[in-house]
Amino acid sequence: MSAGVVIVGGGQAGYQTAASLRSEGYTEPIAILGDEAGVPYQRPPLSKALLLGKQDPDRLALRPANWYADRAVQWIPDTRVHSIDRSTRTVLAESGARFPYDYLVLATGARNRTLNTPGALYLRTLREGVALQERLQQASNVTVIGGGFIGLEVAAAARALGKTVAVYDTGPRVMARAVCPEVSQYFEHTHAAQGVSIHTNFSATPPPADLTLVGIGVIPNTDPAEMSGLAVANGIVTDSYLRTADPSIFAIGDCASYPNPFAAGGMVRLESVQNAVDQALCVARAIVGKPAPYRAVPWFWTEQFDIRMQMAGIGTGADRIVLRGSTSNRKFSAVYFKSGRLIAADSINQPAEHLAFRKLLDAGTPLTPEQVGDLSTDLKSLL
Ligand code: FAD
Repeated sequence: MSAGVVIVGGGQAGYQTAASLRSEGYTEPIAILGDEAGVPYQRPPLSKALLLGKQDPDRLALRPANWYADRAVQWIPDTRVHSIDRSTRTVLAESGARFPYDYLVLATGARNRTLNTPGALYLRTLREGVALQERLQQASNVTVIGGGFIGLEVAAAARALGKTVAVYDTGPRVMARAVCPEVSQYFEHTHAAQGVSIHTNFSATPPPADLTLVGIGVIPNTDPAEMSGLAVANGIVTDSYLRTADPSIFAIGDCASYPNPFAAGGMVRLESVQNAVDQALCVARAIVGKPAPYRAVPWFWTEQFDIRMQMAGIGTGADRIVLRGSTSNRKFSAVYFKSGRLIAADSINQPAEHLAFRKLLDAGTPLTPEQVGDLSTDLKSLL
């Protein structure tokens, strides 16, 4: 009898692998081993609607428990995988349980970087989200360490709830790793206008507050892969099919590093729902005998106050930024070019424009900075 597919990690990518395998017609056994307690759930609302009291934490599950049973997907919670015996194709759990596989999909995600700040809270899991929401209700002043997406989303939610909020970042500007200076500045102004105090280039210890949230990035969960001799370099290393050097083992989502055509083939590890979902589908297709290199356009979103920013492509290495629209009417895109080629676009409150940029990136449509800067250019007509 076939051992089927074992998926390690019950997050966005792990759930989606099982769902895509079944929708692609895979009929062999599927098991998901996850070290959290409940069924896989959505993380994005944890730093947004949940904190604002607009999201019932019991309704974050990607699918209800019976979805798994109905599709013969074995969901095994509270099970932490320790290592992989590749010679016998067996996954070893910390509990001592062993799970044989034909194909193994590593979807172990990432964990928060920590600071030696006693009493500080972190945000990655549903449990942490619920704890943060409860603590936020009691707090009147909030310190956020880290001006990345999660830190700023928490700051915006806390401020919307009427708290006194300060954000501290060691870098020169917020979201510095992800966006251009113009976009950082727009977010800094918006936070300041809403009453959040932002401290960049901050190297001292932030003052104590009723609640301190640390959001300083993540570390990919690579231990089981590393222990079984698979290559790890800022994530579990895969080829363009998301396969590790072991042909029966794939790695996807936040834990995986792969050659990305939107980064000129450079190794990239992305942290986004889109990446987790699309990589899961790519691997499911490979397992059912329809392998193809992974080449989905990366995209991501963040919500802070009345800003919904959607990002497409990878802007790293841009040598020219063009602003399309104006920041004063709160609807614009920052468009990234490298050697005259469109590589990314961050669209603020412009969902249709974001979609157009995604399609232009996907198609590789030639587009000049002058065309983009000219608002009379209909982006869709270029497709
Ligand atoms: P995860 O969802 O982290 O799942 C991995 C799972 O594997 C976890 O349950 C983990 O505990 C488990 N695991 C790890 N090691 C083991 C082991 N050895 N054995 C068993 N299980 C293990 N993305 C967006 O695109 N837009 C957003 O607005 C956005 N907001 C976010 C807000 C927050 C607060 C957070 C935390 C993330 C946000 N993200 C957002 C990122 C997005 O949620 C992640 O990119 C996505 O969840 C990645 O999915 P994954 O399955 O790779 O990893």
